[in-house]
Amino acid sequence: MKPIYLDHNATTAIGGAVRAAMETYLGGQFGNPLTTHRFGEAPRAAVEAARADALATLGAEGGEWQAIFNSGATEGLNHAIKGLAFAGLVDGRAGPRRRIVIGATEHYAVRKPAAWLAQTFGFEVVEVPVASDGRVPVDAFVAQLDPETTLLASLVWANNEVGTLQPVEEVGSACRSRGIPFVCDAVQAVGKLDVSGAASFSDLVAVSAHKFHGPKGAGLLARRRAVPVAPLVHGAPQEEDLRAGTHDVAGIVGLSAALHAAREEQPQESRRLSGLRAEFWKHLRSTVQGCHWNGEGTPLLPNTLNVSFDGCPSHDLCAAMDSRGVAISAGSACESGKAKPSRNLLAMGLSEGRALTSVRISLGHSTTAHDLSSAVEAFAASAKEIRRSL
Ligand code: PLP
Repeated sequence: MKPIYLDHNATTAIGGAVRAAMETYLGGQFGNPLTTHRFGEAPRAAVEAARADALATLGAEGGEWQAIFNSGATEGLNHAIKGLAFAGLVDGRAGPRRRIVIGATEHYAVRKPAAWLAQTFGFEVVEVPVASDGRVPVDAFVAQLDPETTLLASLVWANNEVGTLQPVEEVGSACRSRGIPFVCDAVQAVGKLDVSGAASFSDLVAVSAHKFHGPKGAGLLARRRAVPVAPLVHGAPQEEDLRAGTHDVAGIVGLSAALHAAREEQPQESRRLSGLRAEFWKHLRSTVQGCHWNGEGTPLLPNTLNVSFDGCPSHDLCAAMDSRGVAISAGSACESGKAKPSRNLLAMGLSEGRALTSVRISLGHSTTAHDLSSAVEAFAASAKEIRRSL
């Protein structure tokens, strides 16, 4: 049987058009965009076109925004959070503004830099708990936004594990009206949601190409120029001195081509995936006893389904599914391999037992109804095998 990939929130395959767009800059057009001779011309033009196009996708047109190309969203989010803190420390503004407000289900790429700033420089990190639907209540988040003491706020647009959508627009707008920089982790949103309004409520937006059929190691941090951010990487003057290092031209072109395709295809692809997911859940629930969709009925990404299977430890279930040719994930990709209950599920108030038996199924471009029907059979056989053995 052809392997079935149901782990698109972990990463995706590079699309055909993206690969074709990159090819030119892997071969013939190898020049450094910073050089002034003829070899630099086409790469420089490609990087600048990618910059404008990427910003347009986020609704961040005009001179008010800067696109900082980087290695992915872990770097982008570190840059946003530490860059804001360092800029504040340098110009003295951080004096009383030492509070960092984040949601309780943020990715490591937000939680860890915030925790590091707290440990190293004494910043205060406030984690706003989520309600049982997995969302931070807007009022509770806004209550923490004291303009006198808050350095920044950060909220993930869509959680990678359950797919929960956070009220980023409401929280971001509240931040803007209080003059507090708002960082939006839009990694899982691109290609699955309409992200064209991102710039209207955010100050810093992080995206990562490999989550939407672009290359790994290529990311973008969009920055509203009004928000001061210090560089983390010093060197040559790329990215207006905010992120030094020779441009990965092929990666940048790939990111831009993937963003372009995501923008064009998103509405119909989201409808298709949410229809497939509904059918899949109906079939799964009627075939396998004791399964529960975590987050069912709440606003979710159209492609994501987090399911607990009674009596089936997540990692055993993933291994059993893998042996049947179906790739799914236990918790988020970054947490795979550790039999620890998912922080996100516990934060939503689920029991440890339920969290330890949860898996993430994430659909994508390659997913067909036939794949999902085979996956249901594999789940039925795997759950039976595991339950019998325990
Ligand atoms: N934020 C979210 C919500 C993610 O899902 C991920 C990756 O899984 C990241 C940030 C980090 O992105 P990258 O893989 O580009 O470092």
